[in-house]
Formats: sequence, structure tokens, C-alpha cells
Amino acid sequence: MMLWLIFGIFFILILIAGSRLKSKFREYTAIPTANGMIGAEVARKMLYDHGCYDVNITPVQGTLTDQYNPQTKTVNLSQDVYYGTNVAAAAVGAHEAGHAAQHANAYAWLGLRSALVPLQNISATILNMIFIGMFFCLFLLGSLFSMQTAPLIIVACYGFFTLFAFIKLPVEFDASSRALAWIQCTGITDYYSHSKAEKALRSAA
Ligand SMILES: [Zn+2]
Repeated sequence: MMLWLIFGIFFILILIAGSRLKSKFREYTAIPTANGMIGAEVARKMLYDHGCYDVNITPVQGTLTDQYNPQTKTVNLSQDVYYGTNVAAAAVGAHEAGHAAQHANAYAWLGLRSALVPLQNISATILNMIFIGMFFCLFLLGSLFSMQTAPLIIVACYGFFTLFAFIKLPVEFDASSRALAWIQCTGITDYYSHSKAEKALRSAA
């Protein structure tokens, strides 16, 4: 039962952290960019300035669903970022274009990260199935199935997520620093809005 309590608390903490980041991010969407460019235009300009002429930019559903897909050479931007004329949208647009620039420069960490994405998705699916299965057994039979093995698989999946998060760190940090340096020297952010763009990226990545 102790184990359940730990998992429950862990789960709630993740939810709270996620919603806090989202509300922080929303704060920075209130600060407009000086030149009124939408996120997609910022990403396009950043791509061109880095010699990436064969990368597509498409709007996708959801919040903070922005990502670069190296397989299709596509920068996927959430609607808020794609059409947004604020520093948060500009920063995220430039960050995702930064991943395309990493790809074009054969940045090694990005390759490793891309290779691990399918594994991460599989882990997430397994975790969901286990959680659903365990709750189902708990309510129907009043007992938990394989009390020994299920927690082991859960721990293994979380271990993998942690490893993935560590591998992502240098990739994300590098994309953000490319994005921030570029939006500063192109004048998309000024002295005041630049620190907001920095914070927006920290809460989004
Ligand atoms: Zn990123």
C-alpha cells in the first residue's frame, strides 16, 4: 500500500508541475514582439539564416506540442506559437528551428535523442497499460495482479524516462541558446523582452 501512496503523490506532483509551467508560459504570451512577426515567420527566418531551406513548418493541435521531426524535416508548431505575435511564440519558434539547425549541422546529441524517441513512446504505452490494468484489478477483484512484477516494470519505465530527460538536456539547452542568441541579434527581442523570452523557453522546454 505504501508503494501506491508513493506513486499517487508522484503522479500528483507531475500534474502540478505541468500546470504551473503552462500558466508561467501563458504569462509570456502577453508580451508582444517589436516587429509583430508570428511564430511561424520567426521560425522561417531563423531556418533561412541557418541555411535550412528544405524544412517545412506546420501548425499542430494542442498546447506546448511544438517539436522538430528530423525524419520528415518538419517544424511542428502549436497553434498558439504558429500564429502568436509574442515573445513566447517567437522564442519557441526559434527554439524548434534551432533543432533543425542542429540536424543540419549533424549535432551528435540530436541523433541519439531521435533514436530514443520510439523507445520512450513504447515505455509510455506500457506504463499506461499497467496503470489501467492495476486499477481494473483493484476495483473488480479487490486485489492487485502480480504485486511483485508490476512495480518493477514501472520503475524500469521511469528509469528510462529519467535517462531520456538527461540525454535531452544538452540538446534542449543548445537549441535554446541558438534561438536566444539569434532572436537577440535580429532584434526580435529587445532589452526588456529578451529576459522574458529566456524564461518562456525555460518553462516550455
Ligand atoms: Zn526542444
